[in-house]
Amino acid sequence: MSVQKTDILRSCGSCNVCCGVFAVPELGKLDFHRCPHLRDDAISGGCSIYEVRPKTCRVFKCLWLWNDHGIVLPESMRPDRSGIVFTYLFAAETLHGKAIREYVAANGDGPCAIEVWPGSASKPESVLFVAGLARTHNVYVSTRESIGFIEKGTTL
Ligand code: SF4
Ligand code: SF4
Repeated sequence: MSVQKTDILRSCGSCNVCCGVFAVPELGKLDFHRCPHLRDDAISGGCSIYEVRPKTCRVFKCLWLWNDHGIVLPESMRPDRSGIVFTYLFAAETLHGKAIREYVAANGDGPCAIEVWPGSASKPESVLFVAGLARTHNVYVSTRESIGFIEKGTTL
């Protein structure tokens, strides 16, 4: 069965959460580490090397930004509001990426919900959204300390 892709035009806006979560091998940046190229101030916040940022950064789109696999995240689940980044994409050469890929190889494809701030995945709206997603998709839930798996069809 092919999955219909819904076209939603979104931009990251003031969100830069993935720059503090995902490994960028070209920069030697590890998972869950803030990128040294991320500006601090709110006014000019964002990537200080945007025009020449690595390919890993150029290709990354979280599921809020890009509704892949028929998954449409509500506005409220933008990562800088929810504290969770949903994605199918991981750098293969990182420890975290390898671990997720091993889980996916063993259990089947599915999005990963990465908890950015401790406790974000336990918030009622997050739990509700993940519960809905788990009806139709395998869901991986990743924190700094662990990776969990919710099998498709599970009722939470
Ligand atoms: S986490 Fe998603 S919305 Fe936020 S900056 Fe990254 S790609 Fe954009
Ligand atoms: S290089 Fe720029 S886009 Fe890439 S992680 Fe760092 S701040 Fe983000």
